[in-house]
Amino acid sequence: MNAYIARVLENVRTKHASEPEYVQTVEEVLESLEPIVNAHPEYEQVDLLGRIVEPERMFTFRVCWMDDAGQWHTNLGYRFQFNGALGPYKGGLRFHPSVYPGIIKFLGFEQIFKNSLTGLPIGGAKGGSDFDPRGKSDAEIMRFCQSFMTALYRYIGPDCDVPAGDIGVGGREIGFMYGQYRRLKGLWENGVLTGKGMTYGGSHFRPEATGYGAVYYTAEVLKAFGLDFKDKTVGVSGFGNVAWGICKKVAELGGKVVTLSGPDGYVYDPDGVTTEEKIEYLLEMRSSGRDRCQDYADKFGVKFVAGERPWGEKMDIAMPSAFQNEIGMKEADQILANNVEYYIEVANMPTTNEALAYLQSKVKVVAPSKAVNAGGVGVSALEMSQNSERIVWDAEQVDEMLQKMMANIVKESLAACEEFNLGYNLVAGANIAGFKKVATAMLEQGVF
Ligand code: GLU
Repeated sequence: MNAYIARVLENVRTKHASEPEYVQTVEEVLESLEPIVNAHPEYEQVDLLGRIVEPERMFTFRVCWMDDAGQWHTNLGYRFQFNGALGPYKGGLRFHPSVYPGIIKFLGFEQIFKNSLTGLPIGGAKGGSDFDPRGKSDAEIMRFCQSFMTALYRYIGPDCDVPAGDIGVGGREIGFMYGQYRRLKGLWENGVLTGKGMTYGGSHFRPEATGYGAVYYTAEVLKAFGLDFKDKTVGVSGFGNVAWGICKKVAELGGKVVTLSGPDGYVYDPDGVTTEEKIEYLLEMRSSGRDRCQDYADKFGVKFVAGERPWGEKMDIAMPSAFQNEIGMKEADQILANNVEYYIEVANMPTTNEALAYLQSKVKVVAPSKAVNAGGVGVSALEMSQNSERIVWDAEQVDEMLQKMMANIVKESLAACEEFNLGYNLVAGANIAGFKKVATAMLEQGVF
């Protein structure tokens, strides 16, 4: 191991011992950067790695809100502006009870390289709150979002930091937050948030972009092996916006998504989530705020397994799209037992580092989430472009740009493999390709 990388890792392990998710992502990324760091001894002199693992700026704030019964609650809000070398800070907001600084840090660090891979001018950031949206009324969500934005608005802006959605934050929340931002600033700066509704500056395909982009990426990978999605079965976990986009696009390409999951268990639908009725029902399940996927099994009369994840089912392609660390060694073994040849991460860091290395040694293709799910933030960057020009591109234009972006991410990842003699390694290739641009921009902008 390169001595400089080892030193930086040791420092991160010590300093962030109470933030295991952050240590995990730094280990995964830095270890795979060895060839490029070996080739660039100048990184060490300016402590480029020691700087890249520290956010440029972090905000923590209190968010108070009143529930429908008149009771006040206090949550914590976060925004970590990790790296602005390539453009305004950009990344989602996650509202989930598991949120604490270690989660925001791991997501923010991943976001730097993901955003770089899109090829668009966006830096990396992440934020969110430990607020639990489950079971809340629209009015409660609105009051929370208004309070959250009142605390955050002075630290963000179209040329500064542009938040978006993530788990627990969708179009409804973005709308409430944008309304409050506009009210506080008295300005039509709609480039401050992405994932907006179409009536006030949203982009076509933003809701679909993460799922569609993941399928386009996978199609590009399959193409190199002379294959496509036709008649393929796809295992998906989660049932949110990303799973919805995957189901829709896979069905369009002639394949079928056969599993979905939620905190309550998983469903197995051998006919696939392919009809419009089934696909649209996912949106209904999400907006109900119940956070239960058993509702799908009850409605369509398919198998539901309580308390389990779907990886023991038969599938050709596995696309974990739910949450971090949902695939450990046990799930990896289930996937191998089913002879899955394509393991495509979609959710941010869905695989433990141990399981990821294990799968890489056994499965034909392992694709990393920071590349596979980059279409979401990529279309967010296209939304920013449209906002700054005050125009709306049509759906076909955005879709075409998204397809090109995803194909290019595969190409750049493989080019990095070729440059550093890594064979076919989409994981290391994405890390190196994403890092390279950020490192160059940091070097050229001087040390700070
Ligand atoms: N939360 C998404 C992600 O993980 C989207 C971020 C964005 O659109 O800014 O990349």
